[in-house]
Amino acid sequence: MSDLIKTPKILNSKECLTLSPTCISQKLRTHRALVGDDVTIRRALPHRDRKTIGAWCFLDHFGPLDLTNTEGLRVGPHPHIGLQTFTYPLVGEILHRDSLGSKQKIQPGQINLMTAGKGISHSEESLPDTILHGVQLWIALPDGVRHMEPNFIHYENIPSLKLDNLQINILAGEFLNLVSPVKVYSPLVGLELIAMEDTTTNLPLNPKFEYGILPLIGNIEIANEIVDIDTLLYLSCSKPSMPVRVKKGSRILIIGGEPFQEDILIWWNFVARTKEEMIEAANAWNNHTTFGEVKGYQGKELTPPPLK
Ligand code: MN
Repeated sequence: MSDLIKTPKILNSKECLTLSPTCISQKLRTHRALVGDDVTIRRALPHRDRKTIGAWCFLDHFGPLDLTNTEGLRVGPHPHIGLQTFTYPLVGEILHRDSLGSKQKIQPGQINLMTAGKGISHSEESLPDTILHGVQLWIALPDGVRHMEPNFIHYENIPSLKLDNLQINILAGEFLNLVSPVKVYSPLVGLELIAMEDTTTNLPLNPKFEYGILPLIGNIEIANEIVDIDTLLYLSCSKPSMPVRVKKGSRILIIGGEPFQEDILIWWNFVARTKEEMIEAANAWNNHTTFGEVKGYQGKELTPPPLK
């Protein structure tokens, strides 16, 4: 996906409310954003009041969208630096192409992980006549690896376990000693809870992590408070567990990680440390110097908005 806001400002990861020691949760309302030409999605991160949860720095929840008899979701070639894109569909298929020559269809239950490092470009398109529902997240790369060579990995199978009547898919990191194969570069976790029946349980947490909880279908009750589909619930660190109640059929995304200590800047499709790096990357994309070429995509590439 790509940030298509016409005149995005550079966002600084430290520009948000600081929680007082007694305040351990924050309800963040998702906002609507445009992806592709006319597809509206819920954007949970970055949020005015919170830019990162662990190294997770971007979270789009798209769909369910009925794309039959439409152009579909078509995000033309665009560049990324300094981050990993993490794509996880619940329904429908997306075709990914990138400047390394990858051409990969992704289906529900699978993950596409593109590590931009020093620079990559890609396109994403839905397949004809489909319903599309899923999430795309970005993970900020720590300074030590953010200039690495780019790569793309498709994960066919994601480990899962049962806890009471929850199926828990381990999308990234580790949960109850089950480790996701998804290659990340900082301590973080990504989980999906699927309630097979109405379930009340205590979900173990890593006390070193902060967390974000976002319903994708249905809702979740945490400590007697309902979190709905338009809300990302943020929880600060030091919780060993949380009581949850989930209704049958609900699907809940949970992300977490050690608070990301580096000050990052987020603008358009770039994660960097200085405005100069942003300008350099935008110029490199406009001049076709360092981001390679996405072959086979029928349509226009995206151009960066003016940098304020
Ligand atoms: Mn993208």
